[in-house]
Amino acid sequence: MKSLRHSALGKELLKATLALLGFVVALVLILAGPLGWLLLAGLAVVLTRGYSSWQRDGNEKRRPQRTNCHDCGAPNPVENIECAHCGEPLVTEQR
Ligand SMILES: [Zn+2]
Repeated sequence: MKSLRHSALGKELLKATLALLGFVVALVLILAGPLGWLLLAGLAVVLTRGYSSWQRDGNEKRRPQRTNCHDCGAPNPVENIECAHCGEPLVTEQR
């Protein structure tokens, strides 16, 4: 029953790693303070957006990723509901 013992050890190791990870995250959060939390949240949002746009890029490579505002002409990401420049609602052109 060597493999059973090994997997039990692996579980313990995983638990210890998770505990350590949680400890490190908590420590970072405490050290960073409210400002750091905001920064981390912003970073998370940016990462999530980048990831989703990267996924979309893989799915439909030929589609343009930007659309121009019909009001002020500023380029906007296609997932934007309204213009980041002037706030006008973006109309998605359909062909
Ligand atoms: Zn605009």
